[in-house]
Amino acid sequence: MTNISIIGSGLAGYLVATEVRKKLPKANITMFTATDGAYYSKPMLSTALAQDKESSDLVMFSAAAMEKRLDMKVMAHTKVKKIDSKASTIITEKGSSGYDSCILATGSDVISLRLKQKIDDKVFTVNSLDDYALFRENLSTGTRIAVIGSGLVGVEFAHDLAGAGYSVSIVGDAAYPLNLLVPAEIAQVLQRAMEKELKVKWHLNESVVAIEPNKDSVVLECASGTKINADIVLSAIGIKANIDLAKASGIRTEQGIVVDDMCRTNYSNIYALGDCAEVAGLNLHYVPPIRKCATAIAETLAGSPTTVKYPAMPVSVKSPVCPIAACIPRTKEKLTCELTGVVPDLVARFVDDNGSLRGFGLSGSATKQKIELSQQIESWLS
Ligand SMILES: Cc1cc2nc3c(=O)[nH]c(=O)nc-3n(C[C@H](O)[C@H](O)[C@H](O)COP(=O)(O)OP(=O)(O)OC[C@H]3O[C@@H](n4cnc5c(N)ncnc54)[C@H](O)[C@@H]3O)c2cc1C
Repeated sequence: MTNISIIGSGLAGYLVATEVRKKLPKANITMFTATDGAYYSKPMLSTALAQDKESSDLVMFSAAAMEKRLDMKVMAHTKVKKIDSKASTIITEKGSSGYDSCILATGSDVISLRLKQKIDDKVFTVNSLDDYALFRENLSTGTRIAVIGSGLVGVEFAHDLAGAGYSVSIVGDAAYPLNLLVPAEIAQVLQRAMEKELKVKWHLNESVVAIEPNKDSVVLECASGTKINADIVLSAIGIKANIDLAKASGIRTEQGIVVDDMCRTNYSNIYALGDCAEVAGLNLHYVPPIRKCATAIAETLAGSPTTVKYPAMPVSVKSPVCPIAACIPRTKEKLTCELTGVVPDLVARFVDDNGSLRGFGLSGSATKQKIELSQQIESWLS
């Protein structure tokens, strides 16, 4: 019987386990995870506060329930220290285990703030269920929250916190929010809606240089000299692929774990998917690419070598006061941005010299066009 080991119990780990079980009903599947192995949907983390959800409310299935559903073994609280690729063995803090195929789904780490002074017990990041529990617990200490980072995660948390009744200031180093996702005209529709309807205070073109104590709260010092008072700080300045284990095990890495279009690393029986993986040069940090990789890996393990196909996949910002959707152009070609519509319902189309659509940004009710427009864009990986 074939032994398949999966490292990581995030969406990537569980989605690939699900697909493998469908294709290989008799395989031994063992999952190793540093957490308790609870199955939850990470995108829910940035909409849970306004719905008054505890971290336990976000758990869809416990590790024990997942073991039963997928007829697999979950080794919870078991961090993998190294993979011995020559001996096909996983080395954990609790012992070793052999495999025929190993799948890395080690996810992402948050990028830490680098400041001249920082008060660690007032500064939080949220990239896991445990992070969310800790952040939520500490929210009881005050009502003024400063969010650092005006990308997708920072904006979603600012929206959620303000929706839950907190007084939110958000600091971003670009001229407008979501600057890596959509053009200014689109982002500013959301910026104004959050300002007007949720009383969010924006500090754009601004960077935090220090966080100083001030009795029970903190003061954020910005490069311009602006000071922001807050009880709690949420840092959302970005994530990076978690490649530590792969590196320690001699597996090739760049921005992510380098895999080919079949999700294979430089070792033919070690695969990677999810936030940790750079699939054929693309290190994408959202859920639709994970589903594509999970299906391809399962087919390959079941004996039908299968390449990953990526259509153009849009991203939606969970900001109900003004929905935003975007499909980032995947080309180095010079593109023209064509803006149409009337505020708040705008369409920005990025077209190349041949007039072909290569990406878009949408706001308000125009977000309904995201599927139709995505289908007009050439596949990213075919
Ligand atoms: C707030 C927020 C909102 C988001 N919203 C959306 C959205 O709306 N739509 C969307 O498509 N995407 C969204 N995303 C992105 C999406 O959630 C991620 O792309 C996805 O959840 C990544 O899953 P993963 O399994 O690759 O990583 P993770 O969830 O990070 O899982 C990694 C797992 O690996 C384990 N691990 C790591 N190293 C080891 C080791 N050495 N040994 C054992 N275990 C290890 C960890 O404990 C963890 O269980 C959002 C992300 C965030 C943070």
